Amino acid sequence: PKITVGLLFGGRSAEHEVSRASAANVLRALDPTKYNVVLIGLAKDGRWLLCDAGNQAGTVATALTIPEDGAPLALVPGGKGRSLRFAEGEQKGAVHVDVMFPVLHGPNGEDGTIQGALELADVAYVGSSVLGSAAAMDKDVAKRLARDAGLPVVPFATLTSQAPLDYATVVRAVGSTDVFVKPANLGSSVGISRARSAEEFAQSCALAFRFDSKILAERCIDRAREIECSVLEDEKGCVRASSLGEIVPADSHGFYSYKAKYTDAAGARLIIPADIPPERTERLQALAIKTFQVLGCGGLARVDFFLKGEEVVVNEVNTLPGFTSISMYPKLWEASGVSQSELMDILIAHALARHARQQ
Ligand code: ATP
Ligand code: MG
Ligand code: MG
Ligand code: MG
Repeated sequence: PKITVGLLFGGRSAEHEVSRASAANVLRALDPTKYNVVLIGLAKDGRWLLCDAGNQAGTVATALTIPEDGAPLALVPGGKGRSLRFAEGEQKGAVHVDVMFPVLHGPNGEDGTIQGALELADVAYVGSSVLGSAAAMDKDVAKRLARDAGLPVVPFATLTSQAPLDYATVVRAVGSTDVFVKPANLGSSVGISRARSAEEFAQSCALAFRFDSKILAERCIDRAREIECSVLEDEKGCVRASSLGEIVPADSHGFYSYKAKYTDAAGARLIIPADIPPERTERLQALAIKTFQVLGCGGLARVDFFLKGEEVVVNEVNTLPGFTSISMYPKLWEASGVSQSELMDILIAHALARHARQQ
């Protein structure tokens, strides 16, 4: 019998649009002979809407849409805890799903919140559970956990709206006048900017505080190479790392910004595999797996590094990395011999096996 997959996309985060593009690609990669797919769009106002109409397989372009008039859904733990009920409206009834696939990026999706709701509903879901999702999403918490485990991270200072820091204090803390300022919980480079003076620093903080009440100021690793590794856990709990990829943002963007990622086709080049000697590649792959385990991740994650000369630091971990047709996570697995459709099979098998173990 086919497995019914509930594809969750959209979401209440600044990465809503990226998620709709990722979900289109995940839908394409799910083998229709193995899976029935229920499309569940999370509107920006928080409603869960049935989006099967208008997103028929084969007609889906670059991004899934969330029709305003989609039937509103509510997650209801049914007899076996796998029902999505129609919450209201003309349509009455329930949809059953065997496993949820949250293709959501950023807060309210990648950060443990949705994962908590799915735990309560007792339904299997793809990817990291509550703690791993939350720990990786929060760059402050993630860096502290990694540092505590002896993993290399960039020097950073944490600022909150209650406890802001002035530029001089930050410069002393991170050992550089050149800093990157970012919201603690976000992605796609939203709210991130570079500051090299007190004035720029004030502007950078104001920008980052628009997205989060906690922000980070990090030492800028100038002209660092950006290396990424995809990590995948199978149903037996065996964790492996992909070939490495390198991101080379176009000079015009300065860094790997939102525009360089998504709005400018020439915004960045992806080099797969990255030109790194085999021995060093193996060390980075081992570091990616170690980081995945230290943060308590599950299923999948993309671990990102900065490389400068002999120095390497873990920049961050994305537990629901971009899945668009141009995204690094699926591309790295393809380069490592795992097709997108096999990738889906492994992720779903992991989700179902983990859920079965909890029963
Ligand atoms: P993602 O879309 O991968 O989730 P994100 O929004 O979580 O990204 P980061 O990866 O931390 O944010 O930063 C985005 C980009 O900003 C990096 O890819 C890099 O180009 C630049 N950057 C961030 N921190 C630093 C740093 N300390 N030194 C140099 N460049 C940095
Ligand atoms: Mg990120
Ligand atoms: Mg991200
Ligand atoms: Mg990143």
